[in-house]
Amino acid sequence: MFEEYKIATLGSHSALQILKGAKEEGFKTVCICLKGNEKPYESFRVADEMIIIDSYKDFFSIEKKLIDKNAILIPHASMIAYLGMDYIQSMQLMHFGNKNILSIEAHRVLQKQWLEMANLKIPKHFSSPETIDRLCITKFHGADGGRGYFLAKDAKEFYTKLAQSTKEYYIQEYVVGIPIYIHYFYSPLTNEIEVLGFDKRYEANVDGIGRIAAKDQLACEINSSYTVGGNSPVVIRESLLPEVFAMGEAVIKASQQLTPGGLFGPFCLETILNSDLKFYVFEISARIVAGTNVFMNGSPYSYLRYNEPMNTGRRIAREIKQAILTDSLSKVLG
Ligand code: AMP
Repeated sequence: MFEEYKIATLGSHSALQILKGAKEEGFKTVCICLKGNEKPYESFRVADEMIIIDSYKDFFSIEKKLIDKNAILIPHASMIAYLGMDYIQSMQLMHFGNKNILSIEAHRVLQKQWLEMANLKIPKHFSSPETIDRLCITKFHGADGGRGYFLAKDAKEFYTKLAQSTKEYYIQEYVVGIPIYIHYFYSPLTNEIEVLGFDKRYEANVDGIGRIAAKDQLACEINSSYTVGGNSPVVIRESLLPEVFAMGEAVIKASQQLTPGGLFGPFCLETILNSDLKFYVFEISARIVAGTNVFMNGSPYSYLRYNEPMNTGRRIAREIKQAILTDSLSKVLG
């Protein structure tokens, strides 16, 4: 009877994985795709059905069509950025995951309070450029993949680099260490936290600067920037895993105090691990992250847990299937 439902998502971000995973679990899939972006979804054979739209705002006019198909929509960062949280909140279409948590995640101050409630170490936030007293990273709002971020060690450098920009910014202590993105899944059906994998991002131009000599870097006055171009897999020291699980559990517990139902499904803690082996969490994503795409065929950790190829997209579909089969679909929608 689960076959009466379809899994749908917007063709971008992690849609290949979401749709492939859904097919592996036996669902029919629908890809809503911007005209001109169809090629990968057709070529990789992940969509049983394509709905082509001319612009993202046309999504609103096909919502009814998706409802009639009994489709369950899987959110990802591009979908949230393109459709907007206001529309997603008002949508009648079945939606996997808790929308209230997505709204909290989208709000930097609320997100910070959430991480503090969970007692996680977070980089210091500077509320005004004048208070900068160490190396800081300045971030801009929106899921633009780290574009335009810059480093500054004091107010003078901050204003020079901000230049004429009027964009809303957020100043955070820059933690020196290695970036580690932790992919979790929390099942509201079994109340279990799973660790499905780890990745790191491949960012222009911080990951390219080392390819030229220091004297050339200085000569062309290159600024660090953090535009995400791709991701690579990571395995971590096994001795860090107990803490990884504890951090995930703390985040889930705190989320349940923030909003009914709390966070469930896939989520990611975006961390910097410093040389004292302390995790600093600089962001949380309360849905599937694109870094899980490195494990289309499963990760070393999902192999340990499942003994079969299990990516985050497939894990979502399995949760939905389990919920339908146990008459608890409402537990995974929100
Ligand atoms: P974000 O948009 O917050 O995910 O950050 C983009 C990139 O900037 C990350 O992948 C990190 O490489 C880097 N980054 C962000 N915040 C920090 C921080 N507080 N300390 C060090 N690096 C950071």
